[in-house]
Formats: sequence, structure tokens, C-alpha cells
Amino acid sequence: MSTPTGQMIIAGEPVTGSGTTIRAVDPATAAEMEPAFTYGTHDDVDRACAAAWDAFGDYRAQPLSKRAELLERIADNIEAIGDALVERAHAESGLPVARLTGERGRTTGQLRMFATLLREGNLEIPRIDPAQPDRTPPRADIRQRDVPLGPVAVFGASNFPLAFSVAGGDTASALAAGCPVVVKGHDAHPGTSELVGRAIAAAVTETGMPAGTFSLLFGHGPDLGTALVTDPRIRAVGFTGSRQGGLALVAAAQARPRPIPVYAEMSSTNPVFLLPGALADRAEEIAAAFVGSLTLGAGQFCTNPGIVIGVDGPDLQRFVDAATTAITATDPATMLTPGIADAYAKGVTTLSGHDGVEVLAQGSESDRPITCRPALLATDAERFAADEALQQEVFGACGIVVRCRDAAQVRAVAEALEGQLTATVHTGTGDEPDAAALLPTLELMAGRVLFNGWPTGVEVGHAMVHGGPYPSTSDSRTTSVGTRAVERFLRPVSYQDVPPELLPSPIADGNPDGVLRRVDGAPGKH
Ligand code: NAP
Repeated sequence: MSTPTGQMIIAGEPVTGSGTTIRAVDPATAAEMEPAFTYGTHDDVDRACAAAWDAFGDYRAQPLSKRAELLERIADNIEAIGDALVERAHAESGLPVARLTGERGRTTGQLRMFATLLREGNLEIPRIDPAQPDRTPPRADIRQRDVPLGPVAVFGASNFPLAFSVAGGDTASALAAGCPVVVKGHDAHPGTSELVGRAIAAAVTETGMPAGTFSLLFGHGPDLGTALVTDPRIRAVGFTGSRQGGLALVAAAQARPRPIPVYAEMSSTNPVFLLPGALADRAEEIAAAFVGSLTLGAGQFCTNPGIVIGVDGPDLQRFVDAATTAITATDPATMLTPGIADAYAKGVTTLSGHDGVEVLAQGSESDRPITCRPALLATDAERFAADEALQQEVFGACGIVVRCRDAAQVRAVAEALEGQLTATVHTGTGDEPDAAALLPTLELMAGRVLFNGWPTGVEVGHAMVHGGPYPSTSDSRTTSVGTRAVERFLRPVSYQDVPPELLPSPIADGNPDGVLRRVDGAPGKH
């Protein structure tokens, strides 16, 4: 159970691919690791999708408590792998063991959170508008509940080998919704993916779910990944990664004879607004915390704070000086893959070469191969607004300070920014009017607005939104973290004058499931 074999999993069966062979790379040493993994073929995609489609009817008909049992068993099985899972993830990703141990807890925690939701019968709030035969015109009996979309393709993310990968939030929420899942594992951590995939497949068997409820494939994104997204039996896609990759999948999904939704979380620069009172009160303290957030995990978080905006003057300069000192003293950190390290280095070089961009600080150089050298740059608001490239995400620990003339220009920069996962405001003495003026812009720009904190560290809960307008995601109406993530894989259906004996239990007479429902608009367990 604790050593990867190099195999994929199709409907519970271990399968050796017959395509290209890859090996994980230990980013701390650049050494290749055993075993070899062989990519799947289009036939493997076909088999996995056929099995998922076959499983769908049976899986979605299971009582919610059985789906909960599956999610809980997956969490148990992941924990049962023990240290071997964290050790393999550490070797494949270079992420610290403590961080991965926490990430494993988050992964099992979110599986159990969805299980709790299912046990409460609470994925949705069914609605019943009883018939009004005496009304003019008469009203029919109309009842509404949600149904799952069908099999979901999930693309594991490189930067969260556990919490956004094979058993991550996309898989957990799709399974909770009643959708079978076919995962394309990420090449950055195939061994971790296989171990977790086996834990899921075992849970499927142990809880008596149909085998096709889960499959795990390996393959090249533009080839196998596209084949998966365009398979007619796949009905939705969950993705976290680059803007380019996300947009390619959206285009492929839209070009299908029957287009499907793609929930892609892509790129975000997570602007931080430092209001004058905050800088006057605590510029150095904010700078230290900013550098901590910027360099956390080598900056490889989708919520990494990449843009800092403030009114130019002595207090912003205090922030810049303190941040410069802290960045200069920061050691280079191992990045996830050679490709990501390369893209980071090129991104910093390109940004630094733009007109009017000043390099304030860089961390020390490293002779290790796959590292991130933190960087802090600066520019002024006019150039920032005029040059779209300055707003692009550089994935890693790179931040740019935007110096503004006054509060009005801070608001103008906010209005010019692209859609974001997060927007952060730091306030101090006398900042309330500026903060109040900024908030309406920020709530339209970002999925999460936070005050006097840092965007890295996404709480998994009921009120969390990890999403936002384009390009942070491909669909701003949803979240990929928290209980509302399940809504991505459901759709509402109205049942009009359906005979009582045929009504599904959430909307049946007498409320047999004892769930919260809206009857004639009024909420209650009636
Ligand atoms: P990625 O290149 O977007 O790849 C993510 C997944 O999508 C992989 O499985 C990949 O398969 C697949 N894929 C990529 N392009 C595709 C295409 N055109 N068609 C079909 N499938 C495709 O992301 P990554 O490998 O994690 O990292 C690369 C860059 O993504 C980073 O440098 C960073 O800029 C960005 N990134 C952003 C976030 C974020 O949260 N904002 C997180 C991670 C990465 P293959 O590996 O086979 O191509």
C-alpha cells in the first residue's frame, strides 16, 4: 500500500500504460526517482470514462449516507498510508514535511467535511411550490432539487500534491455531489498520486460503490488531458494550474458537440492595499509579515500576494526598506519542478526589464538546481496601469510595489486590476473612509476580501470562497474550496405535477429525509 508501482487505476484495476515513460524528479537534487510511470492511451481514457458512465446511475442513486461513508473511508485510507505518503510527497515536491503533514490533514478534513454535509442531508435546499388549483390561472405542483452533472474530470495541481490533487477539493466535492471522477494525475508527483489513488479505489471497493466511481490516469495534458475533457461521457472539469492550461481546457470543452463547464482556477496576483494610516502605524511590521507571506512555500500559492499598492511617501518607503532587508536575507527555496523554476526565473527577468520597473531586492543566489530566488520590484501607478504585463502572475516569490500619488490613484489602480482570488487591505488610524471607498471595487474584483491579514492560507469551511472573476478562474460564480464547491457539479431540476410515488425523497410528501426545505418560499423541516 505504501510503495508506488508506476501503475494507473481504471475502475479499481491497476493498469500499466503503454505510452511515454516518465519518472518523478526530486526537486531538491534534480535526481529522477523510481518507479517509472507509463502514460495512458486514448483507449485508457475510453475505458475509464465508460466505467465512470456505467457507475454514474448506481452511484448517484446511493443514499447520501453511503456517499458519506465513501468519503470517510477515503480519509481513513489516506491516513493509513502513514508517513510513507508524506515522505513520497516531500521527495516529489520539495515541500517541507511539516507543510505536507498539515496538507494531509486538510485533505482528510475536507473529505470528512463533505461527509458531514451529506449525513445532514444538506447539499442543497429543495423547494416545493404546492399546487394552487383555485388560482387564476391555476398553479401546478412544482418541486425543485439538484441532480449531479455526471462524471467529472479532475486535473491534479502541482502545488498542492494532496489537497488539490487526486483526493483534493475537486474530487471530494464531485464525489459528494454524486459524480464519478476520472483524475489526470500531475507529472510532478505521480507516486503520491498513485498512493492516494489506491486509497480511493480501496475505499470504493470497501464501501460497495461501483468500481467506475474512480479512475486515475497519467498522460500528457494536450493529448490525454484533452481526450479526457472531450470524451462525451465527461460532464464537467475541475482544474488548478496555469492560465494557458486552463484556457486550453475551456476551449476544448466549449468546442465539444455538447459543451461542458470547466471550473479552472488559473492565475491571480492577489493585490494588497496598504492604506496611509496602516503604513504610519506599523510599516515595518507589515513588511515583515508581507515577506513571510510572499516567500511561504517558495511563493507557490495561488493566493501569493504579488502586488502591493500604496501612496508614495516616507511611510511607504519605510515599508519598502524593511521588505527589501527581509527579502535580501531570504534564502532561496526549492521549487516544485524544473519547469516552474525556469518559468519563475524568466518571469522575474522579463518583469525587471520593463521600462520604469526597479529591482528593489533579490534573495541570495543558490547553486541548487530548482530554486526560487525571491524578488521585490517597484514601479509607479501610471506605468503599472499602462503596461498589462506588469499585472501578470509570476508564479513564485515575486512581488511588485506600485507607488501611487494619492488615494484616488489607489482606487484607479484597483479599478484597472484583473479579476483576483483575493484582495487585501491594511488599515490604521484614520483609514476608514478610504477603506469604505475601496471595498465596493474590491468585492467586484475578488472572490475573497480580507482586512489586516495575508491571503496565503485558505480556511476550508462553509463561508470560504476560493474563486473570483477571470482570469483568477474561468467561472466566478463558484468556489473550489469549502462546502459550496459541491454546487459546481450539481444542477437544479424542477418536477412539475410528478406523481407523488415517483418523487425523489428530498422533495417527497411528508419530508421523509427530514431535511430543510423551502415550502412556498418558507424555510423549515416541513
Ligand atoms: P499547468 O502547466 O497548467 O498544468 C496543469 C495540468 O494541466 C497538468 O496536468 C498539465 O498536463 C495540464 N495541461 C497543461 N496545459 C494543457 C493543455 N494545453 N491541454 C491540456 N492539458 C494541459 O500547471 P503546472 O504544471 O502546475 O505549472 C505550470 C505553471 O502553472 C506555473 O509556472 C504557474 O505559472 C502556474 N500555476 C499556477 C497555479 C495557481 O494556483 N495559480 C498553480 C499551479 C501552477 P501536462 O503536465 O502534461 O502538460
